[in-house]
Amino acid sequence: MDEDQTLMLSALQHYAYCPRQFALIHIEQVWEENRFTAEGRVLHERVDSGIAEQRRSTRYERSVLLQSQRFRLTGKMDLLEIEEDDPPRYFPVEYKRGKPKVEAWDRIQLCAQALCIEEMRSVQVSEGAIWYWEVRKREPVVIDGVLRAATIAVIEGAHALLASGHTPPPIEDKKRCRACSLVDLCEPEAFRRDHSADYINELFPQ
Ligand code: SF4
Repeated sequence: MDEDQTLMLSALQHYAYCPRQFALIHIEQVWEENRFTAEGRVLHERVDSGIAEQRRSTRYERSVLLQSQRFRLTGKMDLLEIEEDDPPRYFPVEYKRGKPKVEAWDRIQLCAQALCIEEMRSVQVSEGAIWYWEVRKREPVVIDGVLRAATIAVIEGAHALLASGHTPPPIEDKKRCRACSLVDLCEPEAFRRDHSADYINELFPQ
């Protein structure tokens, strides 16, 4: 594995959503914007003021640059709330265009941000939140051992896939493919058809 290889924090969400999507974007360097990604980009531009603010005992840092040497990550977070206490309480907040999900994709990205903050500022981050634009709701996230383990597994998987340079086959979840910005480039149905034809040919050679 390339020890100098660094991953963007946002790439973790691509990997967690679909390793093929991650490979298409970060190995093959293709990108197609759809309504979901465009709305997400506009939302992040709106909150990306970069201005820190103090309100009572809480400091709000926006567009904070993040880095982890241990996990070889780099990126930016939307908002870091720091509550003056002894010790101070660090609370990452990520903005998302959609609504809360059962799957852990968004929580994994937030946890990876927490890992970076812990390394950069020598602190412990035990909770954070994701603010969902569509439902105007702030969803609390506990940065516990289970989420940390899932996040580290995604980081390691993404690094390994990037180092391999290979693009894996489509995932089985067709619903996820329908919401994917890369569906036209990826052509998962064509891949699945070809794959099942190969399988039938293997079973019944002519
Ligand atoms: S269309 Fe489906 S298989 Fe292809 S990249 Fe998107 S989610 Fe993955």
